[in-house]
Amino acid sequence: MCRRWFDDIVPVALAGGTLQLLVREPVQLKYLQKRCQRQFTEAAQAITGRLLAVRFVGEEELEQGRPASTAANGTARDKAGVGGGAPEEEMLISPDYSFDNFIIGPGNRLAHAAAVAVAQKPGWAYNPFFIHGGVGLGKTHLLQAICQAASRANPGLSIYYVSCNGFMTQFLSAVQAGEMSQFRQRFRNVDILLIDDVHDLSNRDRTQEEFFHTFNSLYQAGKQIVVSSDAAPKDIPDLEERIISRFNCGLVADVQQPGFETRVAILKSKAGLRQLSLPDDVAAYIAERIDTNVRELEGAITKIQGLSNLNGSPIDLDLAKLALGDQVSSNHAHLPTIQEIIDTVTRYYGVKPSELLSKRRHKSIALPRQICMWLARKHTRHSLEEIGGYFGGRDHTTVMHAVKAVKSKRQDDGSLDHDVNALERQLLAISA
Ligand code: ADP
Ligand code: MG
Repeated sequence: MCRRWFDDIVPVALAGGTLQLLVREPVQLKYLQKRCQRQFTEAAQAITGRLLAVRFVGEEELEQGRPASTAANGTARDKAGVGGGAPEEEMLISPDYSFDNFIIGPGNRLAHAAAVAVAQKPGWAYNPFFIHGGVGLGKTHLLQAICQAASRANPGLSIYYVSCNGFMTQFLSAVQAGEMSQFRQRFRNVDILLIDDVHDLSNRDRTQEEFFHTFNSLYQAGKQIVVSSDAAPKDIPDLEERIISRFNCGLVADVQQPGFETRVAILKSKAGLRQLSLPDDVAAYIAERIDTNVRELEGAITKIQGLSNLNGSPIDLDLAKLALGDQVSSNHAHLPTIQEIIDTVTRYYGVKPSELLSKRRHKSIALPRQICMWLARKHTRHSLEEIGGYFGGRDHTTVMHAVKAVKSKRQDDGSLDHDVNALERQLLAISA
């Protein structure tokens, strides 16, 4: 891994076998300490041929000249980062997920503009701010960009960024340990609370209750709340009405799949981050073939970069075709269609296709329908939305629920597991 922002790292001292590297941005410092220690140490040892240790230090530590091991928690800089209090649940912010590295397109313009406004004037512009959209479309990126921009604009702010599951785990362990007041202290004394993947609140009654009070307490104090979710508030299954209405009283913005031009721009930006030059025709080639989500675009760059390193050849169209082309097109040739999935499943269970697409919820229909969705998710490249569309216009949360349900039912039910395996074999035999 290599990043453009590595250029800002300054070697400051080499003493006692330790190479000190100064990192001025707190978010970068934390990221390097947690994720990059080993790689930098290995590189330093390889280059010098000596058993050096590498240590990343911030400006404060450098000024005070104290060793990193005693750098106290809870300094001003720590506060401007995230976490504090519960390091085990702390979510690391990636320096890559900044506004500078976020490509704006028609599908995310509003969400981006609102995120920038929230970072500039937390608690004022849009409160709460609710971002929703499919997987890999930049929700986490925007949340982390808000953290970075807000703390840069005002280093004194206390910002807490956590996944919904992190919130839940901390809540449950606080209940168990009888430490609710510490828990409330942690979540209610912040200037900005960002909770990622809030759809995980679905079905969690007690956590929802606590979340509701956390929300109210922050909201009444004029503190900023930002949440992301894979569905709009009203589409999150089993979410209390009063929470839905709280979410809806702020700004609800969605992020949608990027169009071709945005995909090209994202590819160029991601390549730039890695200091790769991606010729226009290569970017267009990738963007034409990969239209599902941004994470897959990144995966394509990684593959191409890998092959280029391996072969020692420059990145051009031929190399890109070699890295992806065959795989993409042959995948396409062998992918089952949704119609084939429906045919296979209806034949197996003796139900009618029209029943699968109907609103009927009886188990004899609901299960085959869920299996179809699971198969479609696993063996086609359709998005959750598209799959829902095929099955009687259901929304993507229904599909997601079906996929999870099949996965967990298979674990408990051997005969279902056997059926699904048989269906999978039949399907792959048809589309081979
Ligand atoms: P989500 O949280 O919505 O599932 P992420 O924020 O994790 O998605 O995004 C997945 C990847 O795609 C990340 O590497 C992110 O940087 C990248 N990405 C998504 N949207 C954009 C965008 N508009 N510009 C640049 N990168 C993006
Ligand atoms: Mg995310």
